[in-house]
Amino acid sequence: MPVLPEPADRESAVLHRDLTKSYRQFVGGDGVYLIDDTSRRYLDAAGGVAVNVVGHGERKITDAIAAHGAEVNYVYGAAFTSPWQEELARDLAGVTKLTAPKVFFCSGGSEANETAVKLARQYHVERGEPRRWKIISRWQGYHGNTLGMLSVSGRPSWRSIHDPYLFRVPHIDPPYCYRCPYGLTYPSCEVRCAEDLERTIRLEGPETIAAFIAEPVIGTSVTGVVPVPEYYSRIREICDEFGILFIADEVLCGYGRTGRPCAIDHWDVVPDIITMGKALGSGYAALAACVADEHVVEALRSGSGQFVHGFTYSGLPLSCFIGVQVYDMIEDAGLFDRSAEQGKYLFDQLAVLARHPIVGDIRGLGLLAGVEFVADRETRRPFPPELNLTERIVACAEQRGLLLRQGVGGANYGSGGDHIQITPPYIISRGEIDELVTLLDGVLHEVSAELL
Ligand code: PLP
Repeated sequence: MPVLPEPADRESAVLHRDLTKSYRQFVGGDGVYLIDDTSRRYLDAAGGVAVNVVGHGERKITDAIAAHGAEVNYVYGAAFTSPWQEELARDLAGVTKLTAPKVFFCSGGSEANETAVKLARQYHVERGEPRRWKIISRWQGYHGNTLGMLSVSGRPSWRSIHDPYLFRVPHIDPPYCYRCPYGLTYPSCEVRCAEDLERTIRLEGPETIAAFIAEPVIGTSVTGVVPVPEYYSRIREICDEFGILFIADEVLCGYGRTGRPCAIDHWDVVPDIITMGKALGSGYAALAACVADEHVVEALRSGSGQFVHGFTYSGLPLSCFIGVQVYDMIEDAGLFDRSAEQGKYLFDQLAVLARHPIVGDIRGLGLLAGVEFVADRETRRPFPPELNLTERIVACAEQRGLLLRQGVGGANYGSGGDHIQITPPYIISRGEIDELVTLLDGVLHEVSAELL
């Protein structure tokens, strides 16, 4: 155990995101538990923010990192490579169903999505279609927090203050059946939300569109929304009809989170580009990737021969080395499949929460679960935002030793709509799932009683 810095007796020098509270310090980890500076253990039901998958304090990883200490730490990715970058790229290529894909490594999901967008743009330019630049995305989608990716994201609460900097991105309606944007019901809706893509392409001008980006299973904005079975095959068809690339943002929902290596595999649809992040480094490294199908890369290879892009830390050897350790652990422990099994058990147990009248919807896939809360189950009316219900639930859970993530942005199209995200590490056991659900059940009892 390293020596911890002395606790400060003055105000924190960190620019924390919430400037009104003091932050709990965590100093250790043990599997699905995090340990704070008073030695109290908390069950990390959120995996940080769907990041940790192999468990906290995992010695196999930390020992490997220590052993790696003597190896090369940095080479500039524009000019050189390393065995770990090469190996991890081969590993990731095998995780997807893309044809002979190539991998570009980054430090986070926003960078991975920026990479995908630039790649899509350059693909069209190289093929002689320089008018194609627009990216179509969805409302309630989140793709990152750089100005580029905030423009692409459909989360009004985070966009509005920075709006003057954002570039124009057409957003289509989300495939969110619980609050269908058209007031329709599946299957008689004929998946109108997918048809919204074609309508938007025609209105914007097909010759101006470069790509469509979506999270196959929605993450933090309306956690756990799983589109209906026909949705992505229709999306794929529309993209093909108009020569548009389909980017699957698997930063949160990918890499085994939903019980398949890639979440889009549930629909048997192959996108052109897949982005990954979070689980890739499992919190032991800041690591993400943009994985592109051969035909996309070929357009650049047979054109200018260059990808006009790059970051200082692209393909950092140490991060890729850690990525290889995480991949090996996931492979060796069968974790890509385990989240399907454990996820089924999780959802069976979560069903008990339906006894709380404030629980409106429990949804998701594998170990990606969302619970949405409503003031009225019949009408699905959300609680008034000023009640801060999600914050109260998350705070109450923390007091009881359970770490949850609050959904961001309001599930009701930015106007209220409380929800939480449950995305534990893949190593979670059945006993720990039981503990998680018992704790959450107690939290909902307590918070519901306060509302009376
Ligand atoms: N894409 C999705 C689906 C995400 O959930 C996130 C982060 O939550 C991002 C992209 C951005 O990733 P990062 O915060 O690592 O830049």
